[in-house]
Amino acid sequence: MVESPEQQHPKKAFGWAARDSSGVLSPFKFSRREPGKNDVTFKVLYCGICHTDLDMIKNEWGNSTYPLLPGHEIVGVVTEVGIKVEKFKVGDHVGVGYMAGSCQSCDSCSTNAENYCPKMIATFGDIYHDGTPTYGGYSDIMVANEQFVVRIPGSLPLDGAAPLLCAGVTTYSPLRYFGLDKPGMHVGVVGVGGLGHVALKFAKAMGLKVTMISTSPKKKEEAIENLGADSFLISHDDGQMQGAVGTMDGIIDTVSAVHPLLPLVGLLKSNGKLVLLGVPDKPLQLPVFPLLMGRKIIAGSSIGGMKETQEMFDFAAKHNITANVEVISVDYANTAMERLLKGDIRYRFVIDIGNTLHTIGLIKGRLPEELKKVLLSVASEWGDVVDDMNGLQVIPLKGAMTNEVYQISWPTKNGVDLFRKVLVRVYGEGVEVFFNREDEVQTFECMSKHGQGPRLLGRFAEGRVEEFIHARTLSAADLRDPEISAIIAAKLREFHNLDMPGPRNVVLWDRMRNWLNEVKNLCSIKDIQKFGLDTLEEEISMLEKELSQGYQQIGFCHNDLQYGNIMMDEETRLITIIDYEYASYNPVAYDLANHFCEMVANYHSDTPHVLDYRNYPGLEERQKFVRAYLSSADYEPSDAEVEQLVEITDKYTLANHLFWGLWGIISGYVNKIDFDYVEYARQRFQQYWLRKPALLGSSGDSL
Ligand SMILES: [Zn+2]
Ligand SMILES: [Zn+2]
Repeated sequence: MVESPEQQHPKKAFGWAARDSSGVLSPFKFSRREPGKNDVTFKVLYCGICHTDLDMIKNEWGNSTYPLLPGHEIVGVVTEVGIKVEKFKVGDHVGVGYMAGSCQSCDSCSTNAENYCPKMIATFGDIYHDGTPTYGGYSDIMVANEQFVVRIPGSLPLDGAAPLLCAGVTTYSPLRYFGLDKPGMHVGVVGVGGLGHVALKFAKAMGLKVTMISTSPKKKEEAIENLGADSFLISHDDGQMQGAVGTMDGIIDTVSAVHPLLPLVGLLKSNGKLVLLGVPDKPLQLPVFPLLMGRKIIAGSSIGGMKETQEMFDFAAKHNITANVEVISVDYANTAMERLLKGDIRYRFVIDIGNTLHTIGLIKGRLPEELKKVLLSVASEWGDVVDDMNGLQVIPLKGAMTNEVYQISWPTKNGVDLFRKVLVRVYGEGVEVFFNREDEVQTFECMSKHGQGPRLLGRFAEGRVEEFIHARTLSAADLRDPEISAIIAAKLREFHNLDMPGPRNVVLWDRMRNWLNEVKNLCSIKDIQKFGLDTLEEEISMLEKELSQGYQQIGFCHNDLQYGNIMMDEETRLITIIDYEYASYNPVAYDLANHFCEMVANYHSDTPHVLDYRNYPGLEERQKFVRAYLSSADYEPSDAEVEQLVEITDKYTLANHLFWGLWGIISGYVNKIDFDYVEYARQRFQQYWLRKPALLGSSGDSL
């Protein structure tokens, strides 16, 4: 009997695999071989998504076997080395690319060209020397023979480095092998995509003149302005192509779609070389006569040998070359595949395996009985039969500061969706200082009635079950995208105008006073002095007086509009604002101020508590946001109106610093989540004192 993937080997492993040619990826338990004397074991941190992954999960080449676990742009950190391993030690940054093994004795293998070994073994979807299937890098650990592992130089960021293992060496190798690497040479690169953009970077670093060739005129600006190409040709523009005839020493053609070779051959000088890297699904027409007239060469090239892969990384480190990547979580992989199919990516998806792939587990070891009951009733309401509650898949999601959040899914047999997903929120401890849970639940239900946010599916003592929103959580960078920012502004306006229950009073100031009292109860005298807490009562009163002058609009404010609380559907570009724990009526300018202050944070960096105020939005960006906020289909705000709201918003940032500063100190005492709250608080207070003189002028000081 064939052993299951889970029992085949002694080392437990976990990843995401496709089960059939639908190509849908889902959590998959398997195993890896016991590391041998020559093996390197590493924890996977990132894995790039190559077009080959997409082709293989969908069995486009007809040779896929399932379960198929893709990924051959795998980087991570060494956790274990066999006794005969010489090149690596524990803690090293390493990578594994397309190959897991080769015969080690043929002509290709003995000339450092394992990639052309007839018995080369692919990293995934192949059969290893021991007769078991190979599984790729969408997984937690890798075990690989030292010969097929490369060192990633410390200076390269691992996410941007991952795609070099395939896209990088695939373009670097032909530039070197075909001698298209002499400074001053002119090369063309066909296709501005995953391969093309790194080909361009390598060629420029080698000192070449580079012309990008594409069917899409839209890519011209990008290729020249952002990627550094010297010139750009539209391949179907005969005039442009004619103008460049006979000017190129070589062409790297990365395109897989069927396309004519004749115009490209025409661009070559005598003795020029056209190197094909793509795999069209039909044979291309070979123009023979133009090849003879000029002794031109058309050649192919596939990835690269291990020695040149290492050379390529050393070269990349020297010239600071990485791929342009969009880092995603593993549960976004299926959406990423759809986008890749449409070419909707600049230029490579990289999965953040280290932070987002979690072993199937249960909340704190087991699901609370009450939650099981709620899940069962939700499932049966949807007509699903869940036989085995322990067969539920539980994936912890990251990014919630006061809650633990899990994606829970179960298989369906309705033949439409493979899995049914819900979101389970387990309330964090100690948060009752900050907000009233009943208020939050009431807000959540009311929001859901207004058609805002996810639906409430059920409640249990420690938390609740919510509709799973099929949208992605925004990143820190998204907040600065002008298009996304304008959508957020409009959505925030809609949020502020919601008709919510309860009195429409400003709660900001009293909330701060309550928190200040709480802080004083919790803090030692030393900390009270350190944070200058004794003066804060006065500061709060001064601010309240200063900021309450004149008319200001009161609205239902979110009060915590950080990027993690904003989700966007990539297809419809619709925004959903989530997590209403701090929501209440407040001056809308305060909510805008909070959003601006959030732009200096990146909670997904190595130092999530560190705020970089160099990233605070400039006046123009703030005005743009406020203008988008005030505008509607039939209303265009005046400059004066925009300026006035920006000005009051700027002042409210002071209140915001005190608010989150106090929150940070309390959290440092009551919250067990791993985050340096106290350092966070220190930075907010520091910013308060730093900005106060400029924002309030002398009037503030005189109080
Ligand atoms: Zn690849
Ligand atoms: Zn060989």
